[in-house]
Amino acid sequence: MMRDSRQQQRRLRAYIGAVAIAAIASFATLARLDSGGGYGDVHWTAFGLFAVLLFVSESKPSLWMRTGEGREVTPGWSFAYALVLLGAPTAAVIVMVVTNLYVDVRHHKGTLKIVFNCAQVATALSTGGIILHGFGVHGGIADGGSIPTTAAIGIVVGGVAIFTISGMLTAIVIGIHQNVAIGPVLRSGFGLSMTADGALLALAPVFVISFEYSIIMLPLLGVTSYLVYYATRNALRQQHEATHDPLTMLLNRRAFDERVENAIDSAPTGSIAVMVMDLDRFKDINDRLGHQVGDRLLVSFAQRLERVLPPGGIASRLGGDEFGVLVVGIPSQPRLEAQTEQLQTALTAPHDIDGFPLTVAVSIGVATNTDAEATAEALTAAADIAMYRAKRRESNVEFRGPEHETDDYGRIGLLQDLSAAIEHQQIRAHYQPQINLSDGSVAGVEALMRWNHPTHGPIAPGEFIGLAEQTDLIGPMTELMFKIVMRDCRRIAPDVPRIGINVAPRSLLDRQFATRILGIVHDVGFPADRLEIEITERAIVSGSERTTNALDQFRDAGVTVSIDDFGTGYSSFQVLRNIQANRLKIDRQFSSWLDRGGADEMIVTKIIELAHGLGLEVVAEGVESRAVRDRLAELGCDIAQGYALARPMPIDALNSWLEAHRVVTDAPRHLPTPRLRIATP
Ligand code: C2E
Ligand code: CA
Ligand code: CA
Repeated sequence: MMRDSRQQQRRLRAYIGAVAIAAIASFATLARLDSGGGYGDVHWTAFGLFAVLLFVSESKPSLWMRTGEGREVTPGWSFAYALVLLGAPTAAVIVMVVTNLYVDVRHHKGTLKIVFNCAQVATALSTGGIILHGFGVHGGIADGGSIPTTAAIGIVVGGVAIFTISGMLTAIVIGIHQNVAIGPVLRSGFGLSMTADGALLALAPVFVISFEYSIIMLPLLGVTSYLVYYATRNALRQQHEATHDPLTMLLNRRAFDERVENAIDSAPTGSIAVMVMDLDRFKDINDRLGHQVGDRLLVSFAQRLERVLPPGGIASRLGGDEFGVLVVGIPSQPRLEAQTEQLQTALTAPHDIDGFPLTVAVSIGVATNTDAEATAEALTAAADIAMYRAKRRESNVEFRGPEHETDDYGRIGLLQDLSAAIEHQQIRAHYQPQINLSDGSVAGVEALMRWNHPTHGPIAPGEFIGLAEQTDLIGPMTELMFKIVMRDCRRIAPDVPRIGINVAPRSLLDRQFATRILGIVHDVGFPADRLEIEITERAIVSGSERTTNALDQFRDAGVTVSIDDFGTGYSSFQVLRNIQANRLKIDRQFSSWLDRGGADEMIVTKIIELAHGLGLEVVAEGVESRAVRDRLAELGCDIAQGYALARPMPIDALNSWLEAHRVVTDAPRHLPTPRLRIATP
């Protein structure tokens, strides 16, 4: 954990050096005081027993209690103080230091950390011993008879001193390490772990005194102390749970915000940075490979992140597939940029999930603190905006640009605006005609959502719909779209056989969705057999029973079900097996293949044949040239949609277009195409 910038490292060394000197000085003083008293009346059986207990409790990690700040509280303190109270403080300090040394070396702790731990326990314990001397306690308290009031006070003061000194020394080292003042460290849950230490320390005199009366008392006391230990451990565990993400064990959002807040309070402008990182297309991995694999990937990512953090970095999981990093004490802007690039590269290397290499790209947004940002929220939001820009530009890493860059908006801001747009019905529908390739007549129109943002202008549907799909906004948004289309429908010529609306995968998971939509359709008296819903192949692959039920409900009502973007998923054929659709929309990448001939064209040909064999109508999307349209007609594709025929347009333009198209084709009134078609050779 000793990842610090050079300056921090220097401060850390200086501090630990000072603690080491304090340890030596206090121990020497104690030894000198002790040499007068001698160890004549020390109860060595008790000493041996407590020393063993001390060693066992310190060296068994299963007994440790991990705290919010990454410290460990061990039950060792109570036994260590008991050793002091038995009248052998120098020996007690030696036992405690040796035990700590042994445990730290065994756990491969760094030299600085080992030196600090040993110096810290030695200083605290020696000072406790010196104080006891001051109160006239030197022979040990287990020597029969009653304890004088001064001695009793001495025992309490000594305990409090040990507890305060060890707590403060540790708080300072954490403060230097995290580059924050001690105040915030003490505030951020440190108090609880100090209380735990205190509770354990308070047991020490009780141990020693009961031992004095009868060794039989010890097991009884064992029960009590176990309860104290158990309660403390639970309290600490709860605190840990409240501040950590249970899956990745990183800090959670709340604790992260607190750290950022503390850092802002005590760091000068431009010296701390917040990074927000988001895995690219994580949702696809979840959909395709399942949530278990998704979870494992998140854990692996979190572990990697902790390993490759820049010096002085703290990692957290902000939620979902989003992670946050706080870097305190950044050396310089160019250095930070280099570090972020390195981080990005390290994080993009494949993860080994059950022996299967899985690669996930990550977009990172970085913001350093300015005078203006007084809150963690504002700083994280600025990093979020940069991250979102990195996603949009596919640039991997972006830094907070000049304030109020015109094309800059964060996801949070965009989601808020989108939610307002839905509420104020600022969403519009555009319609793109589809043509029957056999006779050029209109086969239908696809409704496509449009949002004209008041300040950012038109936002690409892929962008805001993708965003809405990750939240509950998608529900109200889809419903609004159906309402808009139903309203527009009254103005669409009745000879347009079908109107298609896209439905997001997530909406189908809502059990009430189909009922509500069919209600909207029914209310306006729109015939359900003129309605088509388009579901992406992805939704069906990852489809649960709920998805299938929703689709059944639509089909039973007479709605045409289309599989959208066919061929873009990883299990296109599974989709054909799993659901009964009426239409297949071949993704637009395949239309472009038709220009290339050879195997590419063969694939498109076979998809059309396969669909026909299964009784599905085939719609080709993204038809951008006359040549492609003609080739599709030759191959027996039923319907075409694309810029070569018409672009998506507002309702009024659509009506004009339909009018003009009618004149051109002069086609007889088109009858709805039959659901089942036999493949034409
Ligand atoms: P999609 O369902 O595949 O819609 C077709 C997209 O292809 C539309 O993009 C359309 O404008 C575009 N397009 C049509 N002809 C051509 C062409 O010849 N060449 C090229 N390159 N593109 C063509 P748009 O409108 O940007 O929509 C993007 C995606 O956003 C849609 O893909 C759909 O998945 C989603 N979407 C749009 N409206 C809605 C909606 O109301 N609800 C939901 N859930 N998703 C929607
Ligand atoms: Ca579509
Ligand atoms: Ca499509």
